[in-house]
Amino acid sequence: MSVFAVILCGGSGTRMGAPVNKTLLSVDGEKAVVKALRAFLAETDGAVLVVKEGEQGSFEAALREAGVSVHAIVPGGFDRQASALAGLRALPEECEIALIHDGARPFIRREDIRSVIQSVKEKGSGVMAVKARDTIKEADEKGKVVRTLNRDVLYHMQTPQGFYVKDMLRAHENAKERFTDDAALMENAGYPVHLVQGHYDNTKLTSPEDLPVQNILPRIGHGYDVHRLCEGRALIIGGVEIPHETGLLGHSDADVALHALTDALLGAAGLPDIGHLFPDNDPKYKGISSLLLLEKAMERIREKGFEVGNADVTIVAQAPKMAPHLEKMKENTAKAMGVNVNRINYKATTTEHLGFEGEKKGISAHAVALLIART
Ligand code: MG
Repeated sequence: MSVFAVILCGGSGTRMGAPVNKTLLSVDGEKAVVKALRAFLAETDGAVLVVKEGEQGSFEAALREAGVSVHAIVPGGFDRQASALAGLRALPEECEIALIHDGARPFIRREDIRSVIQSVKEKGSGVMAVKARDTIKEADEKGKVVRTLNRDVLYHMQTPQGFYVKDMLRAHENAKERFTDDAALMENAGYPVHLVQGHYDNTKLTSPEDLPVQNILPRIGHGYDVHRLCEGRALIIGGVEIPHETGLLGHSDADVALHALTDALLGAAGLPDIGHLFPDNDPKYKGISSLLLLEKAMERIREKGFEVGNADVTIVAQAPKMAPHLEKMKENTAKAMGVNVNRINYKATTTEHLGFEGEKKGISAHAVALLIART
């Protein structure tokens, strides 16, 4: 039996506040519509895309770039119902079952598509739905509760919604009202509508809040730095001036820990390293506090849409003892980064008198940082 998907991509996206059609937004490194299409093309005989007038070119380009092809890309109508009908009319003649799907639901699972198809074959319809998890109340216009509905019999409708094409075309022809989904149209036309239990993560990209949840992309970065110890310099580590007979040599305040950390953060963001951003031959940075460099680096990182998950720094020094200063280092660092102090950690180790750190010729620091992208 020939099964096709009709993917609706005509939503205005006004609630998303995005400059592009929300089905063309990137999700998991792929355009939402392409991600949905891959699932449907693996389980059906093909698909028709219904897009807004004038946006055909953008969708053609997106599919070409992704190496995905569909039976047709057609312009939609003035509302969802008209768009679904336009999609049904563009199906090839041999198609018997159509699955109507929102292009803004990229997280649809292949197994759920199979269940919907199975339900149509067995019962004539299959509509993806999930049980209501929150208590739902009915209220009057003034917001006063009229009654509490029985949650056990309430479902949230999702897509895909599958029916026989001939049934759907008949329902569309006879429809006297406008409906918000195909299930309602079919129900009103007297066809039994059977629910298929889906998954809560088959969410629709509707408001900007949907994206951060779905688009979290962790990025890790590593940083390493060494500075030589010499007399006549202050010892500044993690933004803390530590009383000691020697200090670290460098163009800036030579804060080895902050340099390693800044490089870890920049690395996670895919930005050039600290030496590239703040050249050590630039007089502007002579003697500058590395807390300021970290602050500036964080600006660049946030401009790229990243937030800090956490960061961990290890200072390698034979002397002096770092332990009494670690808390203050965390505080200074978190403040410069504009994050909660519980996201920052500092540790210290000696090298048992081995190597340049052990011989007190220098101090090194390692750092790892996790950034979270909100694209
Ligand atoms: Mg350095």
